[in-house]
Amino acid sequence: MIVDRQGRRLRNLRVSLTSACNYACTYCVPDGKRLVAAQHELSAEALGRGVAYLIEAAGIERLRITGGEPLISPKLDALLEAVAPLGLQDISLTTNGQLLARKLPVLLAAGIRRINVSLDTLDATAFRAIARGGDLATVLAGIEQAAAAGLRIKINMVPLRGQNLDQVLPLLDYCLARGFELRFIELMRMGHLARDGKAFNQQFASLEQLLELIGQRHPFQQAEAPLDATALRYEIPGKGFFGVIANESVPFCRTCSRLRLSSTGWLHGCLSSSNRHQVGDLFDKPRHQALPALQRLLVQALADKQELAFSGGATVMKVIGG
Ligand code: SAM
Repeated sequence: MIVDRQGRRLRNLRVSLTSACNYACTYCVPDGKRLVAAQHELSAEALGRGVAYLIEAAGIERLRITGGEPLISPKLDALLEAVAPLGLQDISLTTNGQLLARKLPVLLAAGIRRINVSLDTLDATAFRAIARGGDLATVLAGIEQAAAAGLRIKINMVPLRGQNLDQVLPLLDYCLARGFELRFIELMRMGHLARDGKAFNQQFASLEQLLELIGQRHPFQQAEAPLDATALRYEIPGKGFFGVIANESVPFCRTCSRLRLSSTGWLHGCLSSSNRHQVGDLFDKPRHQALPALQRLLVQALADKQELAFSGGATVMKVIGG
């Protein structure tokens, strides 16, 4: 197991299945063009072998499948089949929910018990303006079906000044009424937002702003969260919980345990570093050849982590999956 000077290790792996997406969210895809799969994406078999190798080489315990949009990928079923028997503590998935109803049987059959659904607004007009794809009613119907099937659901919302702050309380009430946990993700300086400070500042809403808004309707108190959790957690007594991933306001770099693998085989130790390590070829090699080489690269990936604070990164979220 690889541990750095700050005691950090790589426990949580996020695999981007594809960079293709059926949305073109304003904060992720500035030119508004729907995303297609990257050239030379790894097959489900190679990704599955990669996950198995990373479990052994890095001590990965939990896997999240992301994208792009993982549910539009024809590789989803085969990847789930490959990772289900690997003995991971947890396999989860982040999706925009557009195809949730259709893919639900596959997720359930693979043993997925919890998902995160990204939903920035309950207002159909604002939804079209932000996501630039998909249909709100379809997402909501998919969420209801997933909940009825027993999946634990977290809703991810990126609060954006001037675009959806009026939705903070409606979304929170929607989640509390259904027993979902709402996760606010502070806007991150990724991709074009790392270069365009003005666009970032115009849209960024802080933890403080969110808590003030929420406090107007609900009394809340800070709740316990696991040591390497990225979200600050709050309890609204008698009603439920919400969280804030406050990348900017309260960075969590000191305890970050995440490792990311892109659909084209790049390993990223840190979202805020431009360093990345190509490992795709290693996943085609037998275990005894792949593991020593992988371990050397994992040491570098862990060393790429910021010491204290996230400062932005050129990588686009669609490529690495958030
Ligand atoms: N398509 C899937 C989805 O919509 O959840 C998975 C990929 S998406 C890139 C993962 C998450 O990253 C979404 O919740 C999205 O809102 C978030 N995201 C994308 N760009 C972001 C940014 N610049 N800052 C904060 N969150 C961002």
